[in-house]
Amino acid sequence: MRQTIIAGNWKMNKTNDEAVELIQGLLGHEGDGEKVRMIVCPPYTALCDISRAINGSKIYLGAQNVYFEESGAYTGEIAPSMLLTIGVSYVIIGHSERREYFSETDQIVNDKVRLALKSGLIPIVCVGEVLEDRENGKTEEVVGAQIDGSLKGLNGDQMKKVVIAYEPVWAIGTGKTASPEMAQDVHRFIRDRLKNNFGDVAEKISILYGGSMKGSNAAELIAQPDIDGGLIGGASLKAEEFLKIINAV
Ligand code: PEP
Repeated sequence: MRQTIIAGNWKMNKTNDEAVELIQGLLGHEGDGEKVRMIVCPPYTALCDISRAINGSKIYLGAQNVYFEESGAYTGEIAPSMLLTIGVSYVIIGHSERREYFSETDQIVNDKVRLALKSGLIPIVCVGEVLEDRENGKTEEVVGAQIDGSLKGLNGDQMKKVVIAYEPVWAIGTGKTASPEMAQDVHRFIRDRLKNNFGDVAEKISILYGGSMKGSNAAELIAQPDIDGGLIGGASLKAEEFLKIINAV
């Protein structure tokens, strides 16, 4: 059985104090961390305090980005070891905002995924098409190329530790959600592609949906056979909204 994961991507929101206030509203509501796993991905500046706050709980900590070198003269960047030593277990890699505003290519994503895995972080690798791709019938072509390029060179054992997030870019932060059937079609396509590239391990990989997921639509999305959870932006910024999603699944 695949693990259901609900991950909150707080993006560039929340000062340290605001982040600690948000986590206080989530603590105690995370369940056993096994059937449904709650992950929070605060900005870098709040990681240490959130790590302390969730110590002893079943909430897991994620970062929103990581660099592909282990150390050195890379001003402003953060290495996997720095994240691991403060209690981070997951890292979002290749979010569409990083791809769009920071020119992250599949090659960069691949470099980051490989170092993250080598270091012991679990990457949440994001893929998804823009509206124009969808309207031109290119969703599978685009998403397939992102899957191939971002995960290039990994073996089945490494893939066991990877989480995928399918996030149609036109649904992120727009209030437009892919219908459960539309999302399922792409999730199935992704799983088939993973099977083709890596074999049976594909059945064990959690594939999350992201794009305006909220309490009112989470249950029907996650009821789809190949949707194993959600990566949540806007609705993760208020404890009561995020918990509605947790409760719905
Ligand atoms: C995201 O950016 O990962 C995301 C899914 O955002 P939102 O939930 O706000 O659409």
